[in-house]
Amino acid sequence: MLAACNVKSTLTGLLPDGALPARADARAKRIPTASTFASSFKINVALGGRVDLPRHRAWRGDGLDLRRPAVCWNSFEEHVAAWDACARGVLPNPLTGFSILPTGVDPSQAPEGQDTFWYWSGIAPVRPHEPWESLGDRAAQAAMTHVASFYEGIEELEVGRQVMTPVDLAERFRVPHGNVYHVDAGLMRFGPLRPAAGMSGYRSPVPGLYLSGGGTHPSAGICGIPGQLAARVVARDLRGGGLLSRKHRRGDNAWQR
Ligand SMILES: Cc1cc2nc3c(=O)[nH]c(=O)nc-3n(C[C@H](O)[C@H](O)[C@H](O)COP(=O)(O)OP(=O)(O)OC[C@H]3O[C@@H](n4cnc5c(N)ncnc54)[C@H](O)[C@@H]3O)c2cc1C
Repeated sequence: MLAACNVKSTLTGLLPDGALPARADARAKRIPTASTFASSFKINVALGGRVDLPRHRAWRGDGLDLRRPAVCWNSFEEHVAAWDACARGVLPNPLTGFSILPTGVDPSQAPEGQDTFWYWSGIAPVRPHEPWESLGDRAAQAAMTHVASFYEGIEELEVGRQVMTPVDLAERFRVPHGNVYHVDAGLMRFGPLRPAAGMSGYRSPVPGLYLSGGGTHPSAGICGIPGQLAARVVARDLRGGGLLSRKHRRGDNAWQR
């Protein structure tokens, strides 16, 4: 079996009690998903018309259609301040992130003459002092007011809005703390240490259970590489594989410790 959902959920929630050796169990429970103090915050907006950034287009003067790229206007200092705010459990001001008009590249995503818009921040407090249930809409409104100073007319054109706080993302994707990287992408969580020592290489400590997804090497993001590499390991093991796969089938994971 190959599990591509969050590895921490797989190892600590989906497996029956006692399935993991004690040492592996302790390591699995310590797989970090909120050590950066930050998570994701997303706003999806439906618009009754089209928006643009005419002021900035004029400033650039190079003819680039700013409706097409992802747009970020926050400074380095604002990003640093946002990380600090997350560590304090406070909503960053501004909530740094970037914007995209999906309809700028694919108009078929909305009725003719209308836009969709999204704003994403990856630096939102994972444990704010005020719970996300009450903070979420206010955070979204503050972000959209900021957005409106760049995208002309966006507030007047808004016909619908979906706000996804870290709590909502956690529920929707079943990832602890709404962590879209599944496991914190810290320096000590790559290669043979992702998701944890003894659980890398896509073979879990449980014979026959393979791990994949963003919590495995080389980490998350829409790249497909964890899935490709995991599939190779499974295919190799199914063919009879080498020493490691024979040991994995036998449940001898001494090599992983
Ligand atoms: C708003 C947002 C914007 C993003 N933007 C980008 C971007 O621009 N570029 C980029 O590279 N990455 C981006 N990411 C990150 C990227 O989407 C994730 O890192 C990536 O999707 C992780 O892939 P995955 O297959 O490992 O896990 P997921 O896409 O999280 O898939 C895991 C699946 O497992 C399912 N699941 C969970 N538990 C169970 C269970 N018990 N049984 C069965 N199924 C289960 C979930 O429902 C989900 O469908 C973004 C993420 C978000 C949320």
